[in-house]
Amino acid sequence: MIGFDGISFNELISRRIMSELTVHDPSYADLAHDQIPNRVSRCSFMASIAKINGLPFYPTIAEFCDESLHTNCDPTVMSRGFFTPLCLSGTDKLIVALANPWSPLAEEYLAPRFPHLEIVKIITLASEINRAIESVVTNSGPSTAEFEAIETDDQDEGIHDFDVTMDQKEPMAQLMASILADAVKLRASDIHFKVEKEAFYYVFRIDGDLSHKIMIPMKLKDRVDAFLLNLMKLPTETRNTAPGISGRFTISYYHRPIDIRYERHQTYRGYHLTLRLLDKNHIKLTLGKGALAFDEETQFALNRVMQIPAGIIVISGPTGSGKSTTLNAILRELNRPEINILTLENPVEDEVPGITHCNLKSAKEFKPMIASFMRSDPDIILMGEVRDLESAELAIEASITGHKVLTTIHTPRASQIIERFEQLGIARWKIAQALKAACAQRLVKTLCPHCKEPATGISSNERKTFFLDDTWATMPHYVAKAGGCGACRNTGYKGRTAILEIIPITPEMADKLAQGQITPYAMERQIAAEGLLPSLRRSALRLIREGKTDLAAISKVIDMTYSDV
Ligand SMILES: [Zn+2]
Repeated sequence: MIGFDGISFNELISRRIMSELTVHDPSYADLAHDQIPNRVSRCSFMASIAKINGLPFYPTIAEFCDESLHTNCDPTVMSRGFFTPLCLSGTDKLIVALANPWSPLAEEYLAPRFPHLEIVKIITLASEINRAIESVVTNSGPSTAEFEAIETDDQDEGIHDFDVTMDQKEPMAQLMASILADAVKLRASDIHFKVEKEAFYYVFRIDGDLSHKIMIPMKLKDRVDAFLLNLMKLPTETRNTAPGISGRFTISYYHRPIDIRYERHQTYRGYHLTLRLLDKNHIKLTLGKGALAFDEETQFALNRVMQIPAGIIVISGPTGSGKSTTLNAILRELNRPEINILTLENPVEDEVPGITHCNLKSAKEFKPMIASFMRSDPDIILMGEVRDLESAELAIEASITGHKVLTTIHTPRASQIIERFEQLGIARWKIAQALKAACAQRLVKTLCPHCKEPATGISSNERKTFFLDDTWATMPHYVAKAGGCGACRNTGYKGRTAILEIIPITPEMADKLAQGQITPYAMERQIAAEGLLPSLRRSALRLIREGKTDLAAISKVIDMTYSDV
């Protein structure tokens, strides 16, 4: 049997899939069944299933999804059966996307619900089906009745594989499942549970902002706490003794596993829990698409940086500026069979086939891991973050010996990367020679396309504050609508986009920096004045001119109160 993306295929079907795959790549003939999910890409696997069944294969279906067709359908049934109605073709055909054409479920379920339509099947990835279902699903969080159903002194049985989209037997499990499912659906990056003097509540962080508080009855604070500790199989006694507890667990959302990092801090009134959702659906971004759809100028500069054969490429920015997302996208872009890529991360966020990932649990593991690391002769090394002398030294050492090193660092400005390395104990001449590109990234909230409002010109006061020239006095642009609309949860903004500043360190600039003839900040100013490379400020202003964001959003993430030139 082959198991792929949550679907198991029986022996006979497995053999047919294998022989179809082997037609395209004879080396597949030697694969054991359990190697298939690692060796065969999802697309080629599903494409061969489509071929065997004489059905068309679509790697993505989001653009065809007609939400109105979901009205009478149960998302849980469809998700379990790996199918979804997609759209109408003409007046008499219903296009249905499936991941398992051998299962009769789709037709059995959909035929009576669309009695006058002929079902036309297409094949797609299981993840695409779940994404289509997810995009339509709505639910409104826990109700009072759900809270009241929970007994405060019940004990929870351990839960394995917490599927937050299934109905739970235990009211407590049901409550936590709804909170977690809501968080995934709203694309929250974190959930905070906080006990204060007279309140117990949770909030989501979505697109960088905290949402409104949702109150939980105070008497449930110990149950919530115990439930999550239980989920990680940690003894509940630790909560009274340990000042801080860290852990991880995985939930399943419409068959999609989502890792959650757990942090618990003891506070005066109880505790503060932070659950960070490492939703791989969001991490898996491609350069040039979605939030990483950079403008032409930035993409061009980035492509040049990616061609640099050896040296350090650093992306800087505060926490939550999407640095590692961009780095992972760059890595996928550079990933070729003939290139040996190794990563050192804590934790591994996005596993890419063909790349060797190492999970770095503590600083102590660093040195021995590096030693064995370098023996495998990597071409490209991704280090999650430069945060201490050891990681800084490794980056320098690896780049001097001819490797390309990609990493992130926690500084606001690109030019401060050099100073940060110095603070960690690296001589300026060394970092000046090793650093090939200093980048800075921010995520800017984008206007809700449904309710953004046109505006003309920016007031003279704001132009003065933000150093905007007089052309902005009459510039047509868009601003967020106060109070927003239903589509943007009344915020006026929907989603975020990345902007990237790129400063290549040329040999000439490296010499000047090494000899102290120019400061890193002066270098940044000089490059900005030349106006040839993408800067955060210019990219942000371009987004305003394009009607994608407004001044309020960019001034929150970039210091606009000084001018580059
Ligand atoms: Zn809106």
